[in-house]
Amino acid sequence: MKNNSLLSHRSEEPEKGILYIVGTAIGNLNDISPRAINILKNVSLVACEDTRQTKKIMNKFNITNNLISFNKHNSLNKIPRIINALQEGGSIAIVSDAGMPGICDPGENIVNQVKSEGIDVICIPGACAATTALVASGMPSSKFVFEGFLPKKKIDREKILFEISTNEKTTIVYESPHRLKKLLKELLDFCGGDREILVARELTKKFEEHIGNDIKNAIKFFKDKEVIGEITLVIKGICKQKNQEINKLDLKKDLNELNNAGLSLSAASKYLAKKYGIKKSIIYNLK
Ligand code: SAM
Repeated sequence: MKNNSLLSHRSEEPEKGILYIVGTAIGNLNDISPRAINILKNVSLVACEDTRQTKKIMNKFNITNNLISFNKHNSLNKIPRIINALQEGGSIAIVSDAGMPGICDPGENIVNQVKSEGIDVICIPGACAATTALVASGMPSSKFVFEGFLPKKKIDREKILFEISTNEKTTIVYESPHRLKKLLKELLDFCGGDREILVARELTKKFEEHIGNDIKNAIKFFKDKEVIGEITLVIKGICKQKNQEINKLDLKKDLNELNNAGLSLSAASKYLAKKYGIKKSIIYNLK
């Protein structure tokens, strides 16, 4: 197979000059597929985010292969070297510390660049925290939005939080444990306490926990606890009827009308915020 070819017969063994993106596990190492193990055993080189993490997989499955580090700090240097090795007939596997490389992990850039050199890329699928949490949530999953980690900058973050608050589709967010309480508070401000949520902690691991069932309960659950472990949030979309109301009324037009009718900007924003369950500052800034 070369880029754009339609039919091919793939071998179970790694082929020369191919980059393999190998999905592994998000905690429970037994989630790695036999196909992934075979590729990791038999490629000429494994490029991994953190050699200490990948060695755990290698040791468990008796994989003895050459490892090089490939992460966000060294990828600029490493990509040309990997391309060179592939062009010389090597077969290379990329793995990240958890789950699918490329999903909030190194992988995306190298696939792009390798493909633009006419080199084939094959993905060996593995676990992914986003889809694992989504399916476990029981929320609508045929269409969903994956936000990854929310931006840190206030203005960008509030824009996404507003989108989540008005989105009809289920949203998935990654968050670090020490920022979870802050994010839950923001979700309370934007979506209201009754919005359905799943906080999936330590998926596939010994102390896996599913906390919900709405934002106010999740806040209550974590109130006096130190949050530890890995966290993925699933937030249910707004019901269609409510969202249509928000669109139809056109918040900005509403705000201007109330303001022109004599209400102060602050009072008009406060009124609309309460009516639609949206943070006051967001409405205030629409003016
Ligand atoms: N590539 C990974 C994937 O396929 O899911 C994601 C890597 S990203 C750097 C790490 C984030 O994924 C964590 O901060 C957490 O939000 C989420 N995550 C990873 N493993 C998880 C687990 N076992 N349980 C819950 N969330 C997890």
